[in-house]
Amino acid sequence: MEILIKNGLIIDGSGVQGERLDILIKDDKIAKIGNFKNKKAKVIIDASDSIVAPGFIDINNDSDHHLTIFTQPEQESLLKQGVTTIIGGNCGSSLAPLIRGDLKSIRKWTDPNQINIDWQSIKEFLDKLEQKKIGVNFGTLIGHSTVRRGIIGDELRDLNEDELEQMNEVFKQGLIDGAFGISTGLEYSHSRSTPINEIVEIWKIIKEYNALYTTHLRSEKENLLSAVSELEDLAENMNYQTPRVEISHLKSYRGKEEELNLSLAVIQKLKEKGVDINFDSYPYQFIAGPLYLYLPDWAIKGGLEEMMKNIENNFTRKRIVEDLKKEQYDYSSMIVMEISKSTSFVGRNIYDLSRMRMISPEEMIIEIMKAGNGRVIVAEKCLSRISSYWLLKNSLSIIASNGEGLNYTDKKLNLLPHPRSFGTFPKFLTEVRDNKLMDWPEAIKKITAEPARKLNLKNRGLIKKGFFADLVIFNPVTIKSMSTIESPYQEPEGIDFVIVNGQLVINKSQFSGIKAGKILRRF
Ligand SMILES: [Zn+2]
Repeated sequence: MEILIKNGLIIDGSGVQGERLDILIKDDKIAKIGNFKNKKAKVIIDASDSIVAPGFIDINNDSDHHLTIFTQPEQESLLKQGVTTIIGGNCGSSLAPLIRGDLKSIRKWTDPNQINIDWQSIKEFLDKLEQKKIGVNFGTLIGHSTVRRGIIGDELRDLNEDELEQMNEVFKQGLIDGAFGISTGLEYSHSRSTPINEIVEIWKIIKEYNALYTTHLRSEKENLLSAVSELEDLAENMNYQTPRVEISHLKSYRGKEEELNLSLAVIQKLKEKGVDINFDSYPYQFIAGPLYLYLPDWAIKGGLEEMMKNIENNFTRKRIVEDLKKEQYDYSSMIVMEISKSTSFVGRNIYDLSRMRMISPEEMIIEIMKAGNGRVIVAEKCLSRISSYWLLKNSLSIIASNGEGLNYTDKKLNLLPHPRSFGTFPKFLTEVRDNKLMDWPEAIKKITAEPARKLNLKNRGLIKKGFFADLVIFNPVTIKSMSTIESPYQEPEGIDFVIVNGQLVINKSQFSGIKAGKILRRF
């Protein structure tokens, strides 16, 4: 297949200013870049009004945690944003390697029983996805919690010598099998107590394999600074000869601007000392995550089953309600987004739900947790707009969705997805344009070449002869995300063509149905 893209403003991802040129694509690669005025090709795209950029790379994607790479493999909501590559296995949880053959570590996001799990190793998992085919390129990290729980199950304790050795062997094999790195999810109940020396050992392995460490910090809000400072301790421990580090979804909570600034200073200092550190961020004021994270620590210790016992038991339930009351959460800005069974709660805020039932919002949380059997996703509007711009503009930020890819035709009644699944990338580009946050080349670098460099991804992330033909053609004037928290299933505007591995998958904003993604491995 030959595609000729004519007269577009090519912004190649490297950060340099754009140039008006033609691109010829042959098979899955960029064959030539230049002026091909009279050249004929099977498909010709007139890009005179458009920017031509490398396909967007979503370094922090949740399609694996929500299992939509299996249940909605087209990943239409990502393709329509211009995303051509996603990385899963973030936040300590991956779909492989599975030592016990179960997917317990993703239960906070979805019901693992939706799919047949017939793999164990990273190799088997990637081979399986390769047969299945998906719409975007996919690579994975190894989830620390997935492996840790594979070894000791739901026990909350330090690993002994043998177990540590076993875990580290599993990590090494996963990296040999093609995983891009290792992630931790230190805020989640099974990882909170992970001792720092365990992470030091993980860093040594990652460094040895020239791979990537990503981390969902131990605390994103109350103790952000100490959570970020932990990276400083780790770096010091290794004399600053660290692996590449990516902080996942760094956030800007309202009222916590000062703490965010101090944390950014620590990150900057690490960078200056030679640590290859970045963080990712998304352009929304809403966060979304498991409702259980709002419960007191003692109540969730021990995992889902223990937590549900605490919720059912009269005595402990009262204690949970009392502890929640001390927190003074803003329940009117907390919206139920997904709940496994009951659908009547979806799309409503917890304050309104509690008024309707004439109970306190704290008691309402208990009712919702019971109805969802512990698996409930909520969104909360709690991020500061101004400091979110600081994050987008920061020279160390990469823009990533932290959301899952979905198909527009597969709407479910018990699910109101966060708009980040439909609009992260066009919304970022719109914010950049409307608020003059940076110029186009710099903005595009943050979603193409920079994540590619971070991952050490070969032959992607730039528009360059011989590179894979992953491309987005968008109109810089009309580009806009239409997805909202109330009505997320809205297609973005202004993204006209998307090419994945040389195949035209979005043509005049229409999805062709082609699944052209490749499975990516770390070498
Ligand atoms: Zn996370």
